[in-house]
Amino acid sequence: MKKTIKTDEIYEVVKQAYAETRNLKGGKNADYIPFLDKIDPNLFGIAVCLPSGEIIEAGDTDYVFGIESISKVHTAILILQQYGAEKVMQQIGADATGLPFNSILAILMENDHPSTPLVNAGAISADSMVKPLGNPEEKWKAIVENMTDLCGSELKLLDELYQSESETNYNNRAIAWLLKSYNRIYDDPQMSLDLYTRHCSMGVTTKQLAIAGCTIANRGKNPITGKQVFEESLMPNIVSLIASVGFYEHTGDWIYTSGIPAKTGVGGGVMGTLPGVFGIAAFAPPLDEAGNSVKAQAAIKYIAREIGVNVFSGDSIEIIK
Ligand code: GLU
Repeated sequence: MKKTIKTDEIYEVVKQAYAETRNLKGGKNADYIPFLDKIDPNLFGIAVCLPSGEIIEAGDTDYVFGIESISKVHTAILILQQYGAEKVMQQIGADATGLPFNSILAILMENDHPSTPLVNAGAISADSMVKPLGNPEEKWKAIVENMTDLCGSELKLLDELYQSESETNYNNRAIAWLLKSYNRIYDDPQMSLDLYTRHCSMGVTTKQLAIAGCTIANRGKNPITGKQVFEESLMPNIVSLIASVGFYEHTGDWIYTSGIPAKTGVGGGVMGTLPGVFGIAAFAPPLDEAGNSVKAQAAIKYIAREIGVNVFSGDSIEIIK
């Protein structure tokens, strides 16, 4: 079906979503990374970014929080750009694990395969692939530049989060070395783990995430800067990765109930992307047991349902003034 949605309607729905979900109880801040446990649990922001560059927002959309696993999407895009879809498939894979984000069992069960760049194992493997190999400074530069390009403005490293996570990431250390033993780390394992920990510790705002979501939805063209960040033809690969594992072991439930491909992070952020239509993001620190923000999920579902968009609907959507 052809559907036309007025921008004013989106403004109205975002306002309503904020009012309806801001007092939701439930969930708790991630506490396995001590820094995250200290963030004010009442912070809450929602933002929608349209391909025209218009941003519709409510709440704490300029608050800077830890991007965490959402940055796995950014790194996946970088290696897709550097190597192409086929090579990423061979070296990492694109399978949902159905298991928690940091699962070691998933690596063993997949017979040495890191599964997808959107779980910890695949993301560490992806960081090892970032070019130029063997050069941590230049690799980091490429990662930061790519994040900036996707988000439309600079992100700053949250030093305290980086320290906190580096001191406590024992599970991720085990993953890096296990992958090394399977020849699934393509550069130095310690360096790859450090790059991963660092980009998870980047500070981002809800608004920047909505812009990044829209850059993906807009076939790689950032709606704010106009820069073509990745090749158009990669959009379906990127969206399929997000849709199949963005919520870890709850991905099926999420996509079935929301219709919005989205990626979560334990910092409380969720970044969604609806191809050709918009980018959407929400942030609130308290998480459910799978590590997904309770309020951010509710807000995004509310908006998708009320404006009637769903990636599986077959509708062609036009947003008008
Ligand atoms: N940096 C976090 C970790 O590796 C990311 C987890 C997440 O956001 O899901 O544990």
